[in-house]
Amino acid sequence: MSFSPLVDNLMRSLRCLPGVGNKTAQRMALHLLERDRKGAVLLAQAISESIEKVGKCSSCRNLSETSICGICSDKTRHKNVLCVVEYPADVIAIEQSASFRGMYFVLMGNLSPLDGIGPEEIGVDAFATKLNSGIIDEVVLATSMTVEGEATAYFLAEMTKKRNIKTTRIAHGVPLGGELDRIDSGTLARALDDRAMI
Ligand SMILES: [Zn+2]
Repeated sequence: MSFSPLVDNLMRSLRCLPGVGNKTAQRMALHLLERDRKGAVLLAQAISESIEKVGKCSSCRNLSETSICGICSDKTRHKNVLCVVEYPADVIAIEQSASFRGMYFVLMGNLSPLDGIGPEEIGVDAFATKLNSGIIDEVVLATSMTVEGEATAYFLAEMTKKRNIKTTRIAHGVPLGGELDRIDSGTLARALDDRAMI
């Protein structure tokens, strides 16, 4: 490696980003140092501030720097419908489709015993507390159509059905193995509208 230790370290650090290999990390590091030091300072500050301050909403588990996130504290939203998604990116995708005005519950993953992700990791206790609150009339299971997403939906449906809560699953138009944030807004809106009882 022909770069100085600090430059080398910057390149190595950038490789933690998804899809960034050696070549891209090198291009990014050199760009920041050669052409955009101001941008680099802003980037460094934004990363360190968000890492320090962003946690999880205590109600929906979405990323938030306040204990209750903006969606959960929005009084105009329908508190009786709960949409369960895997990741924060799914919330953004559904919000962009403008087809849902209920509340969310973010699993931050899906059940995957082989990877050591069990019920506890996806927040099943918090989910049960929500179901037991008596204000949920419908749970929309919007986990992905992957094997893990389906298994997670099945597991959660067992919990909702036991409590006689209407349970629906988005299906139509969502490609098999597709992740919500890769689907266009129109398709996602239709998938939500056409959700079916399970
Ligand atoms: Zn929230």
